[in-house]
Amino acid sequence: MFKVLKVDHIGIAVKNLEESKKFYTEVLGMTALGEEVVEEQKVRVCFIPTGDSEVELLESTSPDGPIAKFIEKNGEGIQHIALRVDNIEAALADLKEKGIRLIDEKPRYGAGGASIAFIHPKATGGILLELSERK
Ligand code: ZN
Repeated sequence: MFKVLKVDHIGIAVKNLEESKKFYTEVLGMTALGEEVVEEQKVRVCFIPTGDSEVELLESTSPDGPIAKFIEKNGEGIQHIALRVDNIEAALADLKEKGIRLIDEKPRYGAGGASIAFIHPKATGGILLELSERK
């Protein structure tokens, strides 16, 4: 059994992290956390928390990374939505049992030390959905 706890964050693909960050910090007055590079996903990440959720800005560190490919195809914008779950292993086992198409069968490392896994957009009505567990 698992439970979805909240919308954890909204992932936004950007070409230039520094430039995009300014809108949230200087225009909207939000406070950005530190940046982190997740090599495995060829991405530089910055979280900007607000209330119980966060905005996640994602900049590709390589032209062949998933974020670069997303921008090439769709332009900058919302790339995924993440839901916080209480037990990601249980969530993936449950979804697998229900025949839901997953991108990640096993949890992997996500920015900020979260355990994350993506559900295929074909299974969610067109949204790349990330499940995230933080201990
Ligand atoms: Zn994310």
